[in-house]
This record gives sequence, structure tokens and C-alpha cells, in this order.
Amino acid sequence: MGRRKRNRNRPKSEICPYCGSKMIFRPAEYLFMDSVSPGSSKNYYVCSHYPDCDAYMACDDKFELKGRVANGWLRHQRLVAHRYIDLITANRIMQKSAVYMVIATKLGVSLRNAHIRFSNDGNIEKIIAILREILDNNNVGYDRNKIERPLYTRKNLQED
Ligand SMILES: [Zn+2]
Repeated sequence: MGRRKRNRNRPKSEICPYCGSKMIFRPAEYLFMDSVSPGSSKNYYVCSHYPDCDAYMACDDKFELKGRVANGWLRHQRLVAHRYIDLITANRIMQKSAVYMVIATKLGVSLRNAHIRFSNDGNIEKIIAILREILDNNNVGYDRNKIERPLYTRKNLQED
């Protein structure tokens, strides 16, 4: 973290990747009203056509994006990916950092871009397939429907 270049995650585009509208910074309350949970991000980079377009991404205190802007579908896929990663670590197959290395190698992307919050519409399903493969190769049984079910709790909506 200490070696991270400043402003590295400043938005490269002010245009929503989904609808082409302008993106704007908004406080968490704008998205979650009075249900902002403590410890969650205070600011978000939000499509100006929200909620018609539900694309947004959390920012840190310096207004740097924590990942790539996502719509509701991509946020859910990312949540599913995190559930699979949790299953991999809970079964002591490998640590999180090793999982990201596998993803980076298989996708041919940098380690940074292998993190789930940097995934995009084009590669998140490949990432999920990689995670399932790790579990299958280690004979870990799981209920795929349960893991991939939509579960729109407050926490999930605020997931980075
Ligand atoms: Zn949009």
C-alpha cells in the first residue's frame, strides 16, 4: 500500500461505461439513504442517471476509485466471486493472495486487475469459472445455486 502511486485510481473517464452519461461524486447517503453502515465508504462515483442507470463505485477518502465502476449485475457477480473465494480459503485450499495470482495468470492480467473489484462485465464470468475449477479440482462440494443466488441485503449493495 505504501508504494502505491498517488492518484492512481483517479477516474480515467468521467463517462458512465454503461450509458455514456456523466459520472459524479455523491455521498453514500445518496445511494443508501439512512441505511449507510458504519465502516462503509463515505463517497461514491455515481452515474448521473442513477437510479435509471445503477452504475457506481466506492471511493476512498481521497476520492480515488476503489475499483472499476459496476452496475447491479456486475456487483452481484463480484459478490458471487467473493463467496467462492471465501469457500476456497475456508477449505484451506489456498490463501486469497494465491487465488488472485491464479486469476492473474489465467486471465493474463496484472495482479492488481485480478482483484475482484477491478473485474469487468467481460471477465467476471471467467473469474467465477476459474474459482469453481479450483474448488472442483480440490473436491470441495458446494451448492452452486445457493452461492450464486441474488441476496440483496444492505451489506451486499454496499459491497466494494
Ligand atoms: Zn450510466
